[in-house]
Amino acid sequence: MYHALLYYAFVPIDNPEEFANTHRELCQRLELKGRILVSTEGINGTVSGPILACDQYRMSLHEDQRFSSMPFKIDEVDGHIFQKLFVRVKQELVTFRSDLPTDPTRATGRRLSPAEWKERLERGDAIILDGRTDYEFDIGHFRGAIRPDIESFREFPQWIREHLGKNKDTPILTYCTGGIRCEKLTAFMLADGFSNVYQLDGGIVTYGKDTETQGALWDGLCYVFDERIAVEINHTEDRRVVGRCFHCDSSTERYINCAHLLCNRQHLVCPECEAQFSHTCSVACLDRILVPYESL
Ligand SMILES: [Zn+2]
Ligand SMILES: [Zn+2]
Repeated sequence: MYHALLYYAFVPIDNPEEFANTHRELCQRLELKGRILVSTEGINGTVSGPILACDQYRMSLHEDQRFSSMPFKIDEVDGHIFQKLFVRVKQELVTFRSDLPTDPTRATGRRLSPAEWKERLERGDAIILDGRTDYEFDIGHFRGAIRPDIESFREFPQWIREHLGKNKDTPILTYCTGGIRCEKLTAFMLADGFSNVYQLDGGIVTYGKDTETQGALWDGLCYVFDERIAVEINHTEDRRVVGRCFHCDSSTERYINCAHLLCNRQHLVCPECEAQFSHTCSVACLDRILVPYESL
C-alpha cells in the first residue's frame, strides 16, 4: 500500500536553492516521487511513496520547526501517482504576479471548517467562487459555484476586478484543491478592498475526507495534478455528474489528452465519441493522425 501526501506551508525559507537540494536528497533516499515547489515564501508539494517512507517524510518535516504544524492530506493509493521526482525553486509558490501585496502570512480570508463551509453553502447568501481554472471546474465543483473563465491562475486579479468589483461587501466563499490558491486569492481580495471573504480550510480534498459532511454539495469529481486525474469527494447519496462530452455534450467524467500529439488538448469525452474520434478532440486532429507524419 502506498500513500499520497498533499501539503503546503507559507513560512520564510532563506536559501531556497540550498533547501531544495537537501530536500531532494531526502526524497530520493525515501524513494518518493512527486512535485515539490520551494520558494522564499514556503513549500508546496504532492508526493507518493510506500506508507513507511511517507511516514518518515512527514516526521522529518515536522521535526523542522518551520513546518512543525504543517497539515498533510493523506490519500491511500495503489502505487506511485507520479513517474518522477521534481524539486524546483520558484519565485512564487503559486504564480499570481499580483500588483498588490499578497502575503498570506499577514492577512487572508476567514477559514471555514468543512462543517462551517457546508452550513454557509446551505444558507445561500454568499457568492461561491471557484478558485481554480476552467478545465478543473468542468469535471466537478461545489453546487452553485461561479466558473471563472480563466485558463491560468494569474488571470484571477483581473477577472475578480471585472466580475466581482461591485460585490466588495457581499460574503464571498472561495475554495480550491488543497487550499493554497485560496490563501493567495483571498489575500489579494482583502488587499483590493473586499471585506467579507472566506476560504475553505484545507481545500476540497480535506472536505472530501470529512466524516461529518461526507463531501455533500460537491458535484462530480475533483481534478488533481497527478496520474489519477480526478478523485471522489462526495460520498453521500446525492452526487451528480456534471462533466460533459466535448463532442456530443452527454454526461461523462473521463478526461483524456488529444491523441494528436501536437494538439494534446485535455478534454472530457464519452466512450462512444472517444472511439469514433480515435481519442482525438476534433475532426481536424482525427485527419492529422490518419496521415503519415512525413507529409504534415
Ligand atoms: Zn460524446
Ligand atoms: Zn486535438
